[in-house]
Amino acid sequence: MTKKKTKRTICLGIESTAHTFGIGIVDEQGKILANVKDMYSSEKGGLIPVELAKHHARVCNDILANSIKEAGIEMKNIDLIAYSYSPGLAPSLKEGTIFAKALAKELKVPLVPVNHCIAHLEIGKLVTNAKDPVYLFCSGANTQIIGYASGKYRVFGETLDVGVGNFIDNFARHAGIGFPGGPKIEELAKKGKNFIELPYSVKGMDVSFSGLLTNLKQKYDLGKYKIENLAYSLQETSFSMLAEVSERAMAHLNKKELVLIGGVGANKRFCEMLEIMCRERGAKFYSVPLSLAGDQGAMIAWTGIVMQNLGKKDHKISIKNIKSADFDTTERVDDVDIDWVEEK
Ligand code: AMP
Ligand code: MG
Repeated sequence: MTKKKTKRTICLGIESTAHTFGIGIVDEQGKILANVKDMYSSEKGGLIPVELAKHHARVCNDILANSIKEAGIEMKNIDLIAYSYSPGLAPSLKEGTIFAKALAKELKVPLVPVNHCIAHLEIGKLVTNAKDPVYLFCSGANTQIIGYASGKYRVFGETLDVGVGNFIDNFARHAGIGFPGGPKIEELAKKGKNFIELPYSVKGMDVSFSGLLTNLKQKYDLGKYKIENLAYSLQETSFSMLAEVSERAMAHLNKKELVLIGGVGANKRFCEMLEIMCRERGAKFYSVPLSLAGDQGAMIAWTGIVMQNLGKKDHKISIKNIKSADFDTTERVDDVDIDWVEEK
């Protein structure tokens, strides 16, 4: 339910927490008018923070021009700018914040700082129409099982070390197959036939990937395992761990929907495993379309709209205070008070 407005609000959202610089343009009905992004990639060396900032600075103006063109609007039609405030890598966040402030100043519109993880949840809810789901958030840096309860998106389980995406990327880098590793591992895994026993690490509601990563690297270095079989076993093991904790969260919270968000949600085998788990317990599984599963600006823009239109307090930084807009590398999803979700 949106507040009555005389004209439709159009929000431009800027994503720049890590490898992706993206701009999305969304209206208050949740219509995505544009979603343009460019992702830093490299054949080797993985993700280098200062290189990310250089990448973002290089592409930002073209992305802005392309997003305006794709949306079929003019700059002056933008009412609000949302930007990813936290969490992320300092050089990338800084680049995005500087860009957002300059644009807000130029267009004379307010800024809404958005938590990147919450943006993944909000776009997930928008596109799946799920009502009160458990969210399985699997991106590069994050792996969390989240549900809304009493004014917060609460974390019911999470990785005790690295995010599942970074775990996959790290192994891929070790095996010399470039960055990002996820899609490449998925392709290789399709050709895998033999399951290799790997450490399965679930501790209560939490998961851990570092032991699994070390074990996989050791097995790869031995040279006697086919990379296809290692990729296949990596997926079966790590995705089973995540399916197990998601199922337990749904049981404890008595929630009947699971929404998979974050870039690792692009993995078809992962979706298939979660779909089976949900079906077996009479719940509904939702994945988010590929274009909205990973980092992009539309999720930031939509969250800006939701916070601004449904929030009880004013979330925006007014035009005269734009200078004070900042970023934070560490804000967790459960640090944020949620005043725009209705209690069930
Ligand atoms: P995000 O941080 O949400 O943009 O997600 C990026 C992460 O998703 C990276 O670690 C990628 O390797 C991972 N990823 C992307 N596509 C796939 C895939 N098909 N299978 C597994 N992981 C993937
Ligand atoms: Mg992300």
